[in-house]
Amino acid sequence: MDAETEHSASSLLSLNMTDHLYPDHDFSSTADNLWHYGIDQDVPCFSLCTVSSARVDPGQLLDDPDAFESQEKVSSLQEAIRSGEPLPPVYLLHTVSSSHEYYLFEGMHRFTASHREQAEMLAWLAHIGCCGGPAPTERA
Ligand SMILES: [Zn+2]
Repeated sequence: MDAETEHSASSLLSLNMTDHLYPDHDFSSTADNLWHYGIDQDVPCFSLCTVSSARVDPGQLLDDPDAFESQEKVSSLQEAIRSGEPLPPVYLLHTVSSSHEYYLFEGMHRFTASHREQAEMLAWLAHIGCCGGPAPTERA
């Protein structure tokens, strides 16, 4: 797969396909987020891309210093980034209309670690109503 084809509708994958490529233990949570946009997990809407963490809405960063376990997890991910170990992709929503280009769907620890290291992240971008992806629908 070509990780650079950010906006190629022909290569969009469904959530089920992304999970097949990179099994994610937060799959059900991501599926739930997607469902709220009216997108089922077998609808192709994701492309794989390398994204600068600075382009993602920082409102989703872990900022609770008392969340000890989470901070530990972020620290160990920072270690992994520094040693050049590839992290599994996070899930981002491509937002064409807001101040930041991407909004985090899933992967707060990986996002926070990448942001602290000013590193790029491997990410599945959800294109909902953009880039040839499906239009969002209201769930009744
Ligand atoms: Zn898009």
